[in-house]
Parts: sequence; C-alpha cells; structure tokens
Amino acid sequence: MNRSILFVLVYFLTASQLNAQPSQPDEWETLFEKSNYLRTPRYEETMDYFDKFQKASPYAHIFTFGLSPQGRELKCLVVSKDRAFTSIEAKKTNKLIILIVNGIHSGEIEGKDASMLLLREILVTKEKEHYLDKLILLVVPIFNVDGHERMSRYNRINQNGPEEMGWRVTAQNLNLNRDWMKADAPEMQAMLKLFSNWLPDFFIDSHTTNGADYQYTITYAMEKFQNFYYETADWVMNEFIPYLEEYVNKSGYLIAPYVGFKDGKLEKGIVDWAASPRLSEGYAALQNRPALLIETHMLKPFKERVFATKVMFETAMDFVFDNDGKLIELNRRADANSAKMFSIDKEPFPLRLTASNEFENFIFKGIKFIKEQSSVSGKEKTVYTGEKFDLEIPFYNKMKVSETITAPKAYLIPSEWNEIVERIKIHGVNVEVLKKEKTFNVKKYKFKNVKFSQSPYEGRQRISFDYDELQGIVSVPAGTFFINTNQRAVRVILHLLEPKADDSFINWGFFNTIFERKEYFEDYVMEKMALQMLENNAGLKSEFEKRLAEDESFRDNPYERLNFFYERSPYFDSQFLIYPVMRID
Ligand SMILES: [Zn+2]
Repeated sequence: MNRSILFVLVYFLTASQLNAQPSQPDEWETLFEKSNYLRTPRYEETMDYFDKFQKASPYAHIFTFGLSPQGRELKCLVVSKDRAFTSIEAKKTNKLIILIVNGIHSGEIEGKDASMLLLREILVTKEKEHYLDKLILLVVPIFNVDGHERMSRYNRINQNGPEEMGWRVTAQNLNLNRDWMKADAPEMQAMLKLFSNWLPDFFIDSHTTNGADYQYTITYAMEKFQNFYYETADWVMNEFIPYLEEYVNKSGYLIAPYVGFKDGKLEKGIVDWAASPRLSEGYAALQNRPALLIETHMLKPFKERVFATKVMFETAMDFVFDNDGKLIELNRRADANSAKMFSIDKEPFPLRLTASNEFENFIFKGIKFIKEQSSVSGKEKTVYTGEKFDLEIPFYNKMKVSETITAPKAYLIPSEWNEIVERIKIHGVNVEVLKKEKTFNVKKYKFKNVKFSQSPYEGRQRISFDYDELQGIVSVPAGTFFINTNQRAVRVILHLLEPKADDSFINWGFFNTIFERKEYFEDYVMEKMALQMLENNAGLKSEFEKRLAEDESFRDNPYERLNFFYERSPYFDSQFLIYPVMRID
C-alpha cells in the first residue's frame, strides 16, 4: 500500500467517523442539554433557536400562521430541500409532507425539545439530511403558546419534569385538543387553515399521558377503525404499527398502545377506541390522513421522555420515507374514494362507533401495586411497589359501527348562518353561494326532547335531542350557501352538519337560539280562538277530548290546554325547533 492510498483511506475513515458521531457546535446546544436534561426553553428562546435554523440552512423557512389571544405569534418551520416553502410549491415536488405539532397541551412538551435535536441533525450536523430527499417537514414548535408561557413548577402534578412547564389549556381556558371541530380558539382556527392548506400526508401530535403506572415509556394511538378510509386504516394496522412497535422497542424504549383499562380494571384488559374528531387523531381521520398520537409516560424522567419522543419521530419518518409513494397514493385514493363512496354511491356513513367484544391477547408490562386502607380518603388506595410484572390480558382493539347516516347530495344553509359557514370553510370545505332564488326538494330535521347540559363544556352548552324528519319543497333566496358533499372533506362535512354526530355544530350549541320560543299568546285572546277552532274542526275537537281523557297532567295544566290550540294555529312559529340546515337528497 503506497502512502497516497493510505492517506485517502485515513481521510475516508475519519470522514465516516465524523458522520457516525457528529458533534454540533456549542452554539447549537439546547437548554435541555445544557441543563443536564432538566429544563425546556421558554417561548422566546425556542423561537430564537428555530430562527437560527432558517439562518443556518437554505432548506429551512419559518413562517407565522396565526396570533394567540395574548398576541404571541404561532410559528411553523418548513424544511424542504427544494425550498418549497408554500403549500402550492410543496405539492409540486411530489414529496411526502409531515406535520409535527408540539405543545397542544403545552405542559406536555417533550416534542418541542425532541424536534430541536432532530432538526439539528437534519439541518446542522446533516447526519439525517437524507430525510429531505423524500420528505417535507412542517414543525410547529409550540402550538398552545400562551399556555406555554404560563410556566410553573406546579402545572402538572403527576409529571416528572421538566423543572418548569407550561399549562394544559389556552389563555382563554380552552383545551385545543377538544377544539379540532368547533374551532373556537383563534389558535385552532389558524391551525385548521394550516392543516387544510398543506394537507399533510402524515400528522404527528405529541403529548404526555396521565393515568396508571406501568413499564412503558411510550404509548401511542392511531385511527385504524371504520371512522377512517379503509385502505389507509389497513396500512396503519398491518404495516405502520408493527414497524413502529418493533423499531421503537429495538431503540430501547418500551412501547404499547395507549393504556386505558376496561372499566378501570387492569385484569379486565385494555380498550382501544376510535377517537372522536374533537381530538387530533380523530380529526385527521376525517381529513383522510393518518395521524400518530404520542403519549409518553408522565412518571418517566423528562430526559427519557424527550429521547423516546425523538425516536418516535424518527421511526415514523423512517417508515414513511421508505413508503412515501405508497402513502401519497393512499391519501390520494382516500380523498377521491371517500367522496365517491358516500356522496355518489350512498354507502352508509359511520357516524358513531362503539366498542366490540372482540379481543386479542396482550402481554401487559405492569408495575405491581397493593391496595391499602387510606386514612386520607377513607377508601382503599393504590400503592405501587415498583416491582415489574408481565400479565396476559385482553386487548379490545376492534370497533363496531353503531350509527350510520346516508350522505345527502348537498346541504343548504341560509345566509344568516354565515358565521357557521366561515367555521366550515377553515376545514378546507368548498362552499358555493346560490346566485339566484332556487327551488329544492329538501329534508329538514325538527327537534324534540331537547335537553341542555347543566354546566358548560369547553365554554359551550351542549345539548341532547331526538328529531323527526320533514320532507318538502322550498324556495331559497339568492345568497343561500350550498355545500356539495362530493368533495374530499365529505367526512368533515357530515360530522359538522349531521345533528347525530357528537361533534356537530348543533351538539356544540352553535344553534341554541333555534330552541327558544320568541312569541307568546295572551290567555284571553287564545280562549276565543280555541273555541272557534273547536267549532270549525271536528277532528281537532276529538283530538283535544281524547288528550283530556288520557293525559292527566295535560288536563290539569290550563296553559298547556290553551297552547294545544296555539301550536295548531297559523300564528305558531313555523321555524321553532327546525334545524336551519337542509338536506338535498
Ligand atoms: Zn395531552
């Protein structure tokens, strides 16, 4: 071997060693690292760090997508080797778009610190730069920015670090991870615009869990049920999840599906369920996109949780990197076929899923506990011993459809409900406006047995009800909104507008004024009219007498007896209890 060959060899060895163990310049050290993995940076420091990516790399661009109620900018970093920094440019590259959202519950902040480390490896030390050959990354460092700055040592009683952390909800006390459908928070409205504009091929939402003690560092949830396009659901169940579990385990982190015990009892097994669309992963399913919900275990040290979250990001990215063409095609099919299945072919649309009794056996890695009498609560208490155990328990991971509806061809919404329509549009739904008066054969819903919730939930008074269906010809004026269901977001449309859907606008109290009666009779006026009606209408007379004979509470209620006639008179409000949104079937 001559000297020059030896030199070349030494050079390559050194270069590859550098590649294997890159060290970033000191200026790129994060607060998480500098603090011996105990702290997480504040909003300003985080945004400065993300700004540095933009300055350091031609592939990174940071943009503001909204403003919080306290005036903080909501920022997103887009990373693209083609410098495709807008959604339109990004779509032209045919690369797979991943959206990572951190800090939707900003006390649960591992994803932010993990993103900083991972982006540094992509953009600065470049050992993971290869991701950019096939992927475009969108990273929201902190979604709930105001909550993040309500920082304290005392925000998460169950959680093992960081030293100080943000608060679960926004400055307006709204939980962003219950807001994906109703979109009351300005932060969520901004996020939905970002989401529907970019339509990421894969979505990651990063959290820390509460709940039982067990050995797992990481749990996860993904939609793979009938609430999701079936081909992508199969891909999640049979391809993505097996890979994720295998490689996260191989990286040294125990992983399991999200742990929720049946009836709260470990020995009864774990139940999986379809997330309602007010939650991130349930929402992504309605948008025909796979989503990975990460839940690190709150009792594990912050350091372990951050590195485990980073491994989750990387494992998900590795798999979609290797399957980019397949996932892009699945998403294309999900968009095209969902519209066809429900709007054109009229397949029953699943509005509600419930647990099935089917299960698989699952080896649960638990921490032993004993029950002792508590002198504080006066009840039995759980005391974890720290001892590990494995136990085979059932894992209920199937759902059945318990409520379906047939999609109409279109919905009509009167122009006065334009605020609702604005809320629909931010989900990426196309809404047309009728240019002239038009006649349609429509189906309307008339509500009955309406009950209002006792206390507000997420700032809204929710309702429960039944309804009757009324069919008829109506003429609607120019300016009426027309929403064709033959579009890619058909699942979102049905869940927002069909009253029986749990996250429909009407369930969230957006239409509560329609349940208020606004005009009333005086007794002495109604008396006269009732007598006249009885005289002129024999059928009505016998109906009234039958009711008197059979219904004691009616018989004893003078107001209801008069109201019986008011409701059957032409003076009664024909719009009372009628859903303003009409179906064209
Ligand atoms: Zn959370």
